[in-house]
Amino acid sequence: MLQIDLTGKRALIMGVTNRRSLGWSIAAKLHAAGAELAFSYQGERLKGELEKLTKDIPTARLYQVDVTEEDQLKAVFADLADVWGTIDYLVHAIAFAPREAMEGRYIDTSRDDWVTALEISAYSLVAIAREAEPLFTEGSSMVTLTYYAAEKVVPKYNVMGVAKSALEASVRYLAYDLGKKGFRINAVSAGPVKTVAARSIPGFMKMYKRVAAVSPLGRQVDQEDVGNLGVFLLSPMAGGITGETIYVDAGFHVMGMDLGDD
Ligand code: NAP
Repeated sequence: MLQIDLTGKRALIMGVTNRRSLGWSIAAKLHAAGAELAFSYQGERLKGELEKLTKDIPTARLYQVDVTEEDQLKAVFADLADVWGTIDYLVHAIAFAPREAMEGRYIDTSRDDWVTALEISAYSLVAIAREAEPLFTEGSSMVTLTYYAAEKVVPKYNVMGVAKSALEASVRYLAYDLGKKGFRINAVSAGPVKTVAARSIPGFMKMYKRVAAVSPLGRQVDQEDVGNLGVFLLSPMAGGITGETIYVDAGFHVMGMDLGDD
């Protein structure tokens, strides 16, 4: 398989819970390509899991960052400024919406739940880009993770679909701001993959099965597919691409109608 060489590059991956996490799937590919890695995890309870995951990567740096806590966010970039000086790549793989906001009708979303979902899932990208920008260097780039429900109605996805729309629009505006310095940012729009966050979405397994039934490739996508696209977009191979939302969904989103098998 074609291997990108990222020896000497440094990447911060934000939002890894376990080995199924999409953040981890991109991290594993970055590691295989030779990049040095740092990770952030939300709460102390996840530290042990991340230590286990990174036990074969002795240079990995681990930081606890809840993206709603400005001081925690600033602390990770201050430390990386000290130890690394620059950051080449940044992966934003963070999303959250209260469960009750994804169970009923979108119209019933409470103000608090709406603000929480948008703050954690979309505003965090803006805050992270702002903190990272001074550490970016020639060729630096970011990726975030999004989903088809940003564009079309996916029942139950509700406020998370609206948050993903804000996320994708932010990618375009951030691309404009960062592009002036030659830095890039793109979104990976992944089809359903079994992760902790995905399994908390009501009806996730129905969505998961539907993709294999309808998509041109007739299959689901997995962590491997997402990791490959993430690393491609971060790397110099995608040097002319910014502000984009690129799908890795076995082609599901190109279908306008499903007539069953014919
Ligand atoms: P995941 O492993 O559960 O990752 C989501 C991460 O977000 C978790 O590490 C979670 O930490 C973190 N997070 C939540 N609130 C946070 C906060 N306040 N501060 C810092 N981190 C916080 O699930 P995933 O599926 O890989 O999700 C990664 C990204 O991919 C998300 O943006 C998701 O929407 C997107 N995505 C997933 C799929 C899919 O089917 N899996 C498809 C398209 C897009 P905790 O574990 O501590 O909550």
